[in-house]
Amino acid sequence: MQKIKNYINGELIAPASGEYLDNYNPAEGKVYSYTPDSNEEDVKAAVGSARSVFQEWSTMPVRQRADLMLRIADLIDRDHEKLALAESVDNGKPLKLAKRVDIPRASANMRFYATGILHFASESHQMDQEAINYTLRKPIGVAGCISPWNLPLYLFTWKIAPALAAGNTVVAKPSEITPMTAYLFSELCIEAGLPAGVLNIVHGMGGKAGQAIVAHPDVPVISFTGGTATGRQIALTTAPMFKKLSLELGGKNPNIIFADCDFEEALHTSIHSSFANQGEICLCGSRIFVEETIYDKFRDEFVNKVKNLTVGDPLEEGTKVGAVVSEAHRDKILSYIQLAQEEGGQILTGGAQVTVPGRCEQGHFIAPTVIEGLDAQCRTNQEEIFGPVVTLMPFRQEEEVIDYANSTAYGLSATIWTGNLKRAHRVADQLKSGIIWVNCWLLRDLRTPFGGMKQSGLGREGGWEAMRFFTESKNVCIKM
Ligand code: NAD
Repeated sequence: MQKIKNYINGELIAPASGEYLDNYNPAEGKVYSYTPDSNEEDVKAAVGSARSVFQEWSTMPVRQRADLMLRIADLIDRDHEKLALAESVDNGKPLKLAKRVDIPRASANMRFYATGILHFASESHQMDQEAINYTLRKPIGVAGCISPWNLPLYLFTWKIAPALAAGNTVVAKPSEITPMTAYLFSELCIEAGLPAGVLNIVHGMGGKAGQAIVAHPDVPVISFTGGTATGRQIALTTAPMFKKLSLELGGKNPNIIFADCDFEEALHTSIHSSFANQGEICLCGSRIFVEETIYDKFRDEFVNKVKNLTVGDPLEEGTKVGAVVSEAHRDKILSYIQLAQEEGGQILTGGAQVTVPGRCEQGHFIAPTVIEGLDAQCRTNQEEIFGPVVTLMPFRQEEEVIDYANSTAYGLSATIWTGNLKRAHRVADQLKSGIIWVNCWLLRDLRTPFGGMKQSGLGREGGWEAMRFFTESKNVCIKM
């Protein structure tokens, strides 16, 4: 069986301990490869290697850095099919989705920051006739980048690309649950001629390899995407060390549907925003609020459409909902479905595991689930489930739905469906979410800042914000 390797100092190597973790194909429920169970020693080697080339990488002409990153993007495009297949097998997501979203976005991330850095600029300020200030933004050093399993290569590149473009060297850790595409990415970096040590990829458990990166004194900047509880743990470690920290965390996003919306569009897109990637996208709208006058019609048509979503083998063309990422995650989702019923919710469709006959018989599949009859404050409507489960709730007034929407500890994204432009602006202004979509979902302009409010995160990524995050600034003040 294939053994994934760490990528340290330009080489693909076994973990120091020689220990490996099982890597599962969730659609089959079977181990199909092994992941390094890296420890502090591997992280130490990776940080040492990243430190040793920081001077070379950070002073390399920007154009040359950009060209190397663009070469990696070209190789991602060349290996598009292979990477998409690996992503689907590792994660359980439909192959079609990996081909259409995950892999193209991974190469887009590399291209965006490779070209973005060519145009990076910082400010100067003149103080009357007295002095001129200019701001210098310099790369910081070794950046630690830690990513989750739901969009493996997409989010991995989202973290490392701005760090590398800005001139930092990187020690990165993909999720131990979906390590394969980051491993294939390390092979592409070697092929592209990325100098040894510029990017190091250490595989393994969060509490061991991840924690060692976060706690390492020579890693002054950490960019993390994952769960809120993990983010809290990381903040506890980094705060006394005064590290620069960006946290992209969980969500419990509202999808607000007013009666004056384009009904068909709202219905169609809500299917995607609820169940794309098995609902395992941090930006999925898991709480659907529908204005009372159209509630029954929306509910009935929505449930009908959900019943028609094909749950099946991720590699099959017609599959809309693949496997959830692991057995443990399947059990977590099922426990929330159970909780929803205990809290008085009625399951309108779904609510159980699905057996997919054939090679996927042992896989972890859950039927897309729609629940109604719960109040906004119950745990089902407050906690992140991160699976193919949504709740439906009617509302009467704008103020009421804004309260519902803002009632959780999270504030990642929100969607508003309305034909009333003034209302769209008014409601968007009052929602406590880092990104708000009006009459659309998941459109992302990479130039715009991205990040959550409240317990959904700290700091902003995307565009200039990300490149600035990975620099430290100083002001030079010159007397005129
Ligand atoms: P997770 O927090 O369990 O793990 C994320 C990463 O952190 C993994 O690589 C893991 O190994 C590592 N990790 C775990 N404990 C660690 C520690 N103590 N120190 C350092 N690293 C550690 O999250 P997950 O289950 O992989 O991902 C799902 C979560 O990610 C959901 O909550 C989802 O909403 C969130 N997410 C957020 C965004 C966003 O942009 N805001 C995007 C995708 C996913």
